[in-house]
Amino acid sequence: MKEFNEYIIANEPIIRLSFFVSILLLMSLFEYIIPKKELLLSKFKRWSNNISIIVVNSFLLKFIFASSIITISIYTTENKIGLLNLFEISFFFSVILSIILLDLIIYFQHRLFHKIDFFWKFHKVHHSDMDFDVTTGLRFHPIEIIISMLIKMISVFIIGVPIIAIVIFEIILSSLSMFNHSNIKLPAILDKRLRYFIVTPDMHRIHHSIHNEELNSNYGFNISLWDRIFSSYTNKPKNGYEKMTIGLKEFYDENKTVSILNILSLPFRKK
Ligand SMILES: [Zn+2]
Repeated sequence: MKEFNEYIIANEPIIRLSFFVSILLLMSLFEYIIPKKELLLSKFKRWSNNISIIVVNSFLLKFIFASSIITISIYTTENKIGLLNLFEISFFFSVILSIILLDLIIYFQHRLFHKIDFFWKFHKVHHSDMDFDVTTGLRFHPIEIIISMLIKMISVFIIGVPIIAIVIFEIILSSLSMFNHSNIKLPAILDKRLRYFIVTPDMHRIHHSIHNEELNSNYGFNISLWDRIFSSYTNKPKNGYEKMTIGLKEFYDENKTVSILNILSLPFRKK
């Protein structure tokens, strides 16, 4: 197990980067071939700024948090701390259970980010994007990234998540976030079938609506079931997927939401 963990730790950055680049390119290609909704703003301007904030966040995660979360995971495994280490369950089952539990936690974390003013201040940056495409899925304020990582560290400690489960979960989260924010037109029947299991672009686009009742629904990131179980599911937007307005009423202005300086300062600005 020690060699296996060492192998994962040594190769994790390159595995994650390969997935990240491949899914980003694949979704961008699909957005070009089968776009769903006409974009409002200049793609070049939005993308250059959204990608800049993604680079800032990636450095933050890589250099400050990645090693800390792995250290916590090793500590819980070696000292048999954490819920999953209390029971005699197979390694495979503990990996699957960890991934499902982490997904449930970030579902509730997302609800909290909408409910509590201090968290919403930072989460607003993600919702202030006036278009919805693959880069929106990674456009978060660095402080939201830090808060999310702290919650994840505590969760890993309490659950006793194995290292491999953290790596798999992070890859699924980043890949599905790019997928379910992508501006791609899936055949209706495929969307319907996929939606039984995972969050699809149409399902998540509703969460980026300017209307409050739609904005405060469809919080799921990966597994679509949580919204159905916890009564936060909206089936379709009232203005239709192509006609719905994306963004926030209070910051519906290109000059206040697109540039990296606007993205970073938005939580501290008045409407
Ligand atoms: Zn949200």
